Amino acid sequence: MTETLTTVASSLHPADAALDVVVQAGDGWSHVVPAGGTLRIVDLEGNQAVDTLFYDAHDHAERYSAQDTIREQGSIYLTTGSRLLTGSGRTLMEVVADTCGRHDTLGGACAQESNVVRYGEHTRHMHACRQTFLAEVLKHGMTKRDITHNVNFFMNVPVTPEGRLTFEDGLSAPGKYVELRAVVDTLVVISNCPQLNNPCNAYDPTPVQLLVWDAPEG
Ligand SMILES: [Zn+2]
Repeated sequence: MTETLTTVASSLHPADAALDVVVQAGDGWSHVVPAGGTLRIVDLEGNQAVDTLFYDAHDHAERYSAQDTIREQGSIYLTTGSRLLTGSGRTLMEVVADTCGRHDTLGGACAQESNVVRYGEHTRHMHACRQTFLAEVLKHGMTKRDITHNVNFFMNVPVTPEGRLTFEDGLSAPGKYVELRAVVDTLVVISNCPQLNNPCNAYDPTPVQLLVWDAPEG
């Protein structure tokens, strides 16, 4: 099946970013993007999965809800124009640029348990996104129960006509990016997936670059 994805480039310049970091595969990162500020996630080497959680920085109970986001927008994928909604329907962030064109809302984050089910008992002790998420949310006063739905940026998870999820070869490529503008001060928690068992990334997890611009003045 061939489909055309719409891509939108950004006019922001990396030299103007307030923050510019590279996160290695398997590492975590968390940061509050101020209202009006912009976060760009760059898939440096292509087909990496960037598992990401979103919380209202001032009220962690207000957090990204996959089902509300999917239902209100009638789409299981995210791209330019998509809004990330909380369980009470408030918008945390909006996708304002996207040179990849598809990001997954359904696949969830890898865990030791899911690795064992998918890939076998020998993978039980491999590092997984759930552990990275836990380490990051603890820094913000949250616990395991605060880890809920995540977005998988750059991951291609098509749904078959029978309703099955398939983890497909990625549509991303080196240098592709997605950009999100914060509507409210938003805590972003990233696990740059360490997954060695998924053909999505050719069994080769790779680093990503994160850029944050402050809100434009005036
Ligand atoms: Zn993962």
